[in-house]
Amino acid sequence: MNTASILSALEAKHPGESEYLQAVKEVLLSIEDVYNQHPEFERASIIERLVEPDRVFMFKVPWVDDNGRIQVNLGYRVQFNNVIGPYKGGIRFHASVNLSSLKFLGFEQTFKNALTTLPMGGGKGGSDFSPRGKSDMEVMRFCQAFILELWRHIGPNTDVPAGDIGVGGREIGYMYGMYRRLALENTGTFTGKGLDFGGSLIRPEATGFGGLYFVDRMLKTKGLELKGKTVAISGFGNVAWGAALKATQLGAKVVTISGPDGYVYDPDGIAGEKIDYMLELRNSGEDIVAPYAEKYGVAFFPDQRPWQQKVDIALPCAIQNELNETDAQTLIDNGVLCVAEISNMGCTAEAVDLFIDKKIMFAPGKAVNAGGVATSGLEMTQNAMHLQWTEAEVDQKLHQIMNNIHEQCCVYGKQSDGYINYVKGANVAGFMKVAKAMMAQGVV
Ligand code: GLU
Repeated sequence: MNTASILSALEAKHPGESEYLQAVKEVLLSIEDVYNQHPEFERASIIERLVEPDRVFMFKVPWVDDNGRIQVNLGYRVQFNNVIGPYKGGIRFHASVNLSSLKFLGFEQTFKNALTTLPMGGGKGGSDFSPRGKSDMEVMRFCQAFILELWRHIGPNTDVPAGDIGVGGREIGYMYGMYRRLALENTGTFTGKGLDFGGSLIRPEATGFGGLYFVDRMLKTKGLELKGKTVAISGFGNVAWGAALKATQLGAKVVTISGPDGYVYDPDGIAGEKIDYMLELRNSGEDIVAPYAEKYGVAFFPDQRPWQQKVDIALPCAIQNELNETDAQTLIDNGVLCVAEISNMGCTAEAVDLFIDKKIMFAPGKAVNAGGVATSGLEMTQNAMHLQWTEAEVDQKLHQIMNNIHEQCCVYGKQSDGYINYVKGANVAGFMKVAKAMMAQGVV
């Protein structure tokens, strides 16, 4: 494979799509060796076919705000690859959403979903609409307008959307309600639904829980455990909440959370009612963490990121590229043991290279955060069977899946010196599954 020429051709075709190009580059660099051992992949142009989404829907979303004014946002659904199963992936509502970010997320999702061992392809969607500061009715009208266009392209065996940044239970409920009216069916064409209408137990916690099960496995490879370790978390949404809950249950101490306004440092640990308070903060619609510092009398660092604190474990849980090379160096200087992305592509490429170069335990989002979409897969299974599993059943399956993903990363990522390169491991394991399925299904 001539990685440089593939990348430059892609850059010429899609100028300015920096996140998408960053994600493709990371995958190509780590699969190069394995790819070159399979000339049949080259003959079948697997890479050229894999880096482009199957199709992209892009549409306007006109809606009426509380003042009677008409607003127009952009809506997207990127159906990236369905060779393994129906397109599957979240919907993101955030001001930063554009085609590049959704193509990067759809591309990553394809490999992540392959890693889960469940039959799901990759997709992603969203809008530059931000629910922050909007009333419930505004959010409902927006979600309905979004689905008025999207509904015809999705279905329980075609494309199954879910939540992501800015899309939680409330937004899924509004979107699913509108979808059900238009499609005249109720077969679960969304995951992350409310428990009363087909949702799965553990789904809200799953991304964070799965992330911590994975970190636990990483530590065990060195004979270490989570108990007694300090943890820095960024974000304070669904993912950060689940991560804080499980880290605390496993005996670690979470000392930071963050929002767009800065971060909070709580040396006593964010546990018990303080974790519940995160939910209150999130639901307040303000999208800031400063009130936590005031309520519990701890330090607040405006406009800064939590990576400057001395911790054993760092878990980015917010958005892409939220931890850069300087942050990585600070964490390393402070003796960090393990960094695991629970957000998608939470670290910049330079930060990742530095962690790997210094042999710090580091694992990428597509492995660490796969528990969210895996539990969505379990929700699809329960919907198809028209029944609901218990919390213990779902949690046990999620735990098993995360252990399995860790195992696959070791198979493909363990170096001769014993260091586990999880980036390589996850990329190669995900790629091999997708590539083999594409080979088996011919040129389609
Ligand atoms: N948005 C989540 C992710 O990035 C979950 C997707 C899903 O459940 O389909 O994997």
